[in-house]
Amino acid sequence: MSTLDTLGRPLRSLRISVTDRCNLRCHYCMPEDEYLWLPREDVLSFEEVSALADLFGDMGVDRIRLTGGEPLLRRDLPSLIAQLARKPWLTDLALTTNGVLLADAAAELRQAGLHRLTVSLDTLRADRFLALARRESLPAVLSGIDAARRAGFTDLKIDSVITRGDNDDELGDLLEYGRAVGAEVRFIEYMDVGGATRWRPEAVVSRAEILSRLADQYGPIQPLPSPPSAPADRFQLPDGLAFGIIASTTQPFCRTCDRARLTADGVLLLCLYAQHGTDLRRPLRAGASRDTLLNLLRAVWRGRANRGAEERRGARDRGSYIPLSVLKRDAHLEMHTRGG
Ligand code: SAM
Ligand code: SF4
Repeated sequence: MSTLDTLGRPLRSLRISVTDRCNLRCHYCMPEDEYLWLPREDVLSFEEVSALADLFGDMGVDRIRLTGGEPLLRRDLPSLIAQLARKPWLTDLALTTNGVLLADAAAELRQAGLHRLTVSLDTLRADRFLALARRESLPAVLSGIDAARRAGFTDLKIDSVITRGDNDDELGDLLEYGRAVGAEVRFIEYMDVGGATRWRPEAVVSRAEILSRLADQYGPIQPLPSPPSAPADRFQLPDGLAFGIIASTTQPFCRTCDRARLTADGVLLLCLYAQHGTDLRRPLRAGASRDTLLNLLRAVWRGRANRGAEERRGARDRGSYIPLSVLKRDAHLEMHTRGG
């Protein structure tokens, strides 16, 4: 029997951040000039990640997504993917990347056994890309998406965070690009997670607004069925093109959230908004037995009451979630440390 948390939610999905480093500086995630990085010696080895993954498998996890920071910056990532892909309990192994290094990596990722790939792409305009991510990397990302298709990633997704005045006039262009490259686009509402120090309610383009703008452009939009614990609600245009919206800010899905997160240094987080986590690295490195670690995991999950996005929605005078001074003291609160 799987362990349930205080709201009756099982643990099924794990996001593993493999590095907190990144080669972009997206305005909604890493807007500052300086960051405090995790000490290198604290970052889990692939053997440690694999050992912890097995414990999560015992807890009922059958889906893993690798993320970061930028996961393709982690040296020899395909060897971790190969280790994870061999786990008999794993039914879905996915990776979220900004795509900058994907052109050279796609074929190897596929050969290593990666099932699915999501590429984050917020704009198709080079000048905007530079303004929004502070690097001239749009051509590299577009080549990466081409390479992923050629490598055989058929279930390709493109995630676009939509922010007012930045890229909210590109909804149709992004959908048409997705259509052309055979990838399903998912629009993500701007979230006030740690790291999003410039977040303000006016910058959020809500699911309702995205749908109404697309309906103006394309005609009536129909909802499509999606599994209850899936973060994206799916829709289709009158011509049948499917797309998703992840409405974590205006319509959070906390009640069905079955995921946990593991930071690159082995801290277990029960929610994207959690301010504290459980350090699994120390007991693992101290030689704790599998049973001891599993009991710890079960106890932590049983006590889980987190519904961070719902609580944030109810917050008054909502501004950025964690003050910059606090973020500067604790790298674990950053979005790029906990993964998206
Ligand atoms: N670097 C990789 C990437 O960008 O795909 C993986 C890590 S990134 C933290 C994972 C996802 O989180 C990306 O799709 C990114 O757009 C999203 N993200 C980061 N900050 C966000 C915010 N404030 N609101 C909504 N999504 C955000
Ligand atoms: Fe952008 Fe992802 Fe890097 Fe954050 S971690 S700055 S979302 S590329």
